[in-house]
Amino acid sequence: MIDLRSDTVTRPSDAMREAARDADVGDDVYGDDPTVNELERRAADLVGMESALYVPTGTMGNQIAARTHTDRGQEILVDDQAHVVKWELGGLAQLSGLQVRTVDCGERAVPTPEQVRANLVDEDLHRPGTGLLSLENTHNSRGGVAVPVAHVEAAAEAAHDRDVPVHLDGARVFNAAVALDVDPADLVAPVDSVMFCLSKGLGAPVGSMLAGSEEFVARARRTRKLLGGGMRQAGMIAAPGLCALDNVDRLADDHANARALADGLDGIQGLSVPTPDTNVVVVDSREAGLTGDEFAERCTDAGVGCGAFGEYTTRFCTNWDVSRDDVDEAVDRIASTLA
Ligand SMILES: *Cc1c(COP(=O)(O)O)cnc(C)c1O
Repeated sequence: MIDLRSDTVTRPSDAMREAARDADVGDDVYGDDPTVNELERRAADLVGMESALYVPTGTMGNQIAARTHTDRGQEILVDDQAHVVKWELGGLAQLSGLQVRTVDCGERAVPTPEQVRANLVDEDLHRPGTGLLSLENTHNSRGGVAVPVAHVEAAAEAAHDRDVPVHLDGARVFNAAVALDVDPADLVAPVDSVMFCLSKGLGAPVGSMLAGSEEFVARARRTRKLLGGGMRQAGMIAAPGLCALDNVDRLADDHANARALADGLDGIQGLSVPTPDTNVVVVDSREAGLTGDEFAERCTDAGVGCGAFGEYTTRFCTNWDVSRDDVDEAVDRIASTLA
């Protein structure tokens, strides 16, 4: 099977397995794990933040950020297609008691400053007040869109003008930086905290990072403990995470493969595929008379893993374990199954 379901499906490299075996470890809840400490230091530097926290998953990182930035009962302002709204089990409500206010950001993927201003709520006798603006880059559900610095900046500035902090769900923020050819630190500079995944395109088996100011990360560390995310000899999994930080430039290969895949699939009768910004390819199969579910099933039966995305759309995600030859083979298999 050519597995294009997600960039999370990659297996750790030999170097990562060796790094895990050889990792210098200690009890990280006591701050004693040198490998975790190094990972947190390097991750913070990479995104130009003061400090960073190692967390088991991106979901936990986002939820810790939301809880740490806000007070119970406040509003969080977010795009209606955001991962934190769609795919995190209503955690914003369950774990932080937040009221979610969504806006439709369309292809821009982040709100315009006008949308931010119009949807921020000032606290008064009747209204809870907005506690956080949350952005996403790249934007997964909108097709791996790489949001340019200026749009992140404009949204963040509109929130900051009203003293509302800004979190970035940057699960794939390095994909955005590579696609836009900007320093990740520049992309993240307008926001107060960022979560990014080590376990997606960067190839680590486990783990994500939550970065921000020293003061924010100190409080986030307590929230992580509250949610049960305080880990002990975590250097065993942090060591492959350190290897993963060296894989940022490699993401360009996934993007080139995604463009080749999109090109190839767009050439098949009945399929319509926009050119992807990054490693997420969204295929529309309406013209072929197939729903997303039906098309995904046909692809899977033909040996190409993917997932239904919308009523008539399917998502393919290029990754480290998929070569250019695999992509060409995937296009051939899908063309045959639809012929
Ligand atoms: C994958 C993803 C997450 C969550 O990461 P997990 O490690 O799977 O919990 C959060 N946000 C976005 C945009 C993602 O794509």
